[in-house]
Amino acid sequence: VVEMQNIEQAFVIKSSNTPSVTEEKVDGHSSEEIINLDHGDPTMYESYWKNVGSKYTVTIPAYQSLSYFSNAKNLCWFLEPKLEEEIKKLHKVVGNAIVQDHYIVVGTGSSQLIQAALYALCDSLNEPNPISVVSAAPYYSSYPEVTDFLRSRLFKWGGDARSFDEDGPYIEMVTSPNNPDGVLREPVVKRAKGMLIHDFAYYWPQYTAITSPADHDIMLFTVSKCTGHAGSRIGWALVRDQNVAKKMVKFVELNTIGVSKEAQLRAAKILEVITASCQRVKPHDLENFFEHTHNLMAERWKKLQDSVKNNKLFYVQKYPLQQCNFTGDFTETYPAFAWLKSKEGIDCEKLLREHKILTRSGRRFGSDQEYVRISMLSRVDEFDLFLQRLSTIRRISSGNS
Ligand code: PMP
Repeated sequence: VVEMQNIEQAFVIKSSNTPSVTEEKVDGHSSEEIINLDHGDPTMYESYWKNVGSKYTVTIPAYQSLSYFSNAKNLCWFLEPKLEEEIKKLHKVVGNAIVQDHYIVVGTGSSQLIQAALYALCDSLNEPNPISVVSAAPYYSSYPEVTDFLRSRLFKWGGDARSFDEDGPYIEMVTSPNNPDGVLREPVVKRAKGMLIHDFAYYWPQYTAITSPADHDIMLFTVSKCTGHAGSRIGWALVRDQNVAKKMVKFVELNTIGVSKEAQLRAAKILEVITASCQRVKPHDLENFFEHTHNLMAERWKKLQDSVKNNKLFYVQKYPLQQCNFTGDFTETYPAFAWLKSKEGIDCEKLLREHKILTRSGRRFGSDQEYVRISMLSRVDEFDLFLQRLSTIRRISSGNS
């Protein structure tokens, strides 16, 4: 839903694009080509998986997975046992979350689980008015859209957590590292009647130091940003309270009657591969997934920082060094998005769009027009073309003030 607007936007630009006098070629690309870095589409990971090859392909015979059920005895009766096992193994190897004393609820992406968690937390409270959902700006642009889309009587978007001052129960979305700016976060409202949803889509070693295993009431993860398999639409929640977990399962039941078994089985295999790739003693031929992708992210961030260093129009944030318990090394955060700031008064999204670079405006994240969010997870040729084009933007065109 969120992304469609920009798909249309890309179409409009392309269709109204009359060829200019010269079309410079940069590494085989036309300078007129639209670079779409608006989505966080994780195609960067494709190269790792191409190297893995077909050895870990999942084949599902026609007689398998006909039932709605995966394990009728499990609280989450549509969760494939193999996926449950691989989720537990991966968290143990990476050390980013405590699974013990939590129920695992699988969802069609963590997007579905955000909605399931909002429903589950609000449903039992029997409040006369909708409960406010807040997050500190800049916040993930989907939160307000998802919260208000169906005009629920259970919850409503309450805006920036830093200016939230209502009494009574509320829900705070805590995203760490944060989308869009990559900052490691903690709750900001901190009131007695607060309920928290920790969104850990990016709490993986390629993006940030794993400083301790997270242990909260509701923690959301997704294969989309962990392994890059966004198309499989698999996310999972670790939920401490049994009643909340049950209600989340009920939500998924009413919404989609479970989650595709094929997608779960493929995701389970992918998680198995990355866990195996982390083993130091190698009964396999796999390159350590997190090491490989961490190096890729570090390289991209260095290139971006070098590119904006000599440019008087744009700035990017620097992140502190922290020790990672997974690698044992000190590392910076290498966020999945760059939160690019332009000089004051510039509509950054507009300026980049004039140069056929599609990004998402800071305004969509509860912030200002000087900011844009740029995906760092595109394919390498797209990323290099973006940097090349960014370096050519040195002045502001007439329409921008
Ligand atoms: N949370 C955050 C912070 C995200 O950035 C995203 C994806 N952009 C999601 C949740 C949803 O991911 P998915 O539905 O693909 O699991």
